[in-house]
Amino acid sequence: MPGRGDIKAIGDFEPIVSEEIWNAVNSARGPSQAKSRKSASSDFPLRGTIRCSRCGYSLTASRSKGRSKHYAYYTCWNSDCKAVKVKQEVMESQYEVYLDSISIAEPILDLFEAAMLALWKDRNSSESKLRELANKNLLKATKRLEVLTDQFLDGHCDAEFFQSQKSRLEYQIETLEIQSGSNDVKDKPIQVVLNHGRNLFSDVRSTWNRMKPELRPAFASSLNPEGLLSDGVSLGTAEKPWFERLIPSSADDVIRLAVPTGFEPVSPP
Ligand SMILES: [Zn+2]
Repeated sequence: MPGRGDIKAIGDFEPIVSEEIWNAVNSARGPSQAKSRKSASSDFPLRGTIRCSRCGYSLTASRSKGRSKHYAYYTCWNSDCKAVKVKQEVMESQYEVYLDSISIAEPILDLFEAAMLALWKDRNSSESKLRELANKNLLKATKRLEVLTDQFLDGHCDAEFFQSQKSRLEYQIETLEIQSGSNDVKDKPIQVVLNHGRNLFSDVRSTWNRMKPELRPAFASSLNPEGLLSDGVSLGTAEKPWFERLIPSSADDVIRLAVPTGFEPVSPP
């Protein structure tokens, strides 16, 4: 069995996580990453994501030299406002608190996973019926081509008729071969995708901390494309992150998901 990180196949379903996040999480799940400083943007991963809650401008980040050491700050660069100026480590620990607040409880993830697997199974069963039908027709068409060839060889039909019927049947066979083709490659990634989702959403702070620094800016802006608002003390957002809107957050939402019987999540032993 290949390691979980070895599977590169991508399903043709609507992605649950964007490719960007997928890649970021993959890299976060590898051996622990050295805290390399590869680019200026990875020095300040939240630049571009956090905005001033008073004026709405994006915060910029900079270092200033104190008496004996350098200080790094996230600041509002709007010269008419400048309401926010927060030390880098303070801002980034506020961000970690925010990440804790958007992590999703395991029981909710269990239900989400059960619902996704049920949908997946349902889709696969209708696909396998279509494949079965294509296989039946494929056998028929192949048999017909054999009979036609025999008739031609025995002199029962002329070359022109034989050629036209042969091309028609060959085209049919080619199409049916595609339709009946085993698609089992794309049946596999669903569990891999769900495992990744679980890794990502059950503890977003730890995902963030394990991630390569140069991937953090893209990850932060993927989570909150509209940005987060800072008043200097805490972080807030006008709307929920996209994945929280996707995943149920209460028992009522779960009932609305209508998990079919037989797919209830298994309680931990
Ligand atoms: Zn401002």
